[in-house]
Amino acid sequence: MRETVFIGFGSNVGDRVDFCDRAVTLLSLLPHSQVVGVSLLYETEPLHDHAQPGNNWFLNGVVQIETDVAPRSLLMVLREIERSLGRDEDNRSGPRTIDLDILFYGQLVIDEPDLAVPHPRLHQRRFVLMPLSELDPLWMHPSRHRTITQLLAEVQDRSEIRLLLPQPSTRYGSRPTCSPPPGL
Ligand code: ADP
Ligand code: MG
Repeated sequence: MRETVFIGFGSNVGDRVDFCDRAVTLLSLLPHSQVVGVSLLYETEPLHDHAQPGNNWFLNGVVQIETDVAPRSLLMVLREIERSLGRDEDNRSGPRTIDLDILFYGQLVIDEPDLAVPHPRLHQRRFVLMPLSELDPLWMHPSRHRTITQLLAEVQDRSEIRLLLPQPSTRYGSRPTCSPPPGL
């Protein structure tokens, strides 16, 4: 059955815009699915780091899709995309080329060791709630019975988050696939 799913993405190493762009592009190619929204990109201070924005700061955003792909299959796809973009499996908590999390899968609640949906920490993370609120501020958290707007008003997270400025213009598969023929 077609469900609305929100996927959070984050990158804090290398060409972060390109990793986010490629992750969203790969998600847009997922069969039986359609990307229906992509948030702006936010720069987020890593925990315990007071350096200026730039490398080591996370770039974060959220993609909204409509999909028939079941939750566990979707998790496998996300891990495959993480792998294909070079995430280091042996050092999962280290710098990450790309991190993909299922935030919401419709109004489903899953509580298993390797898959927890809604993502168990999303309500504590402003860098997740802000892009979610762009996409659907009235979306209801199925177990906390709060909208995204309400969760954002209540969150304690005081870490610094800035809109990435300027926003890249070549995102999400919009870059040319080939050069135009000579003369055009
Ligand atoms: P985090 O994203 O919390 O910083 P990781 O990406 O290293 O940490 O955690 C990945 C593991 O979390 C995966 O192996 C996956 O099985 C598990 N996991 C549990 N729930 C989810 C979810 N909703 N989305 C993505 N991964 C999840
Ligand atoms: Mg993750």
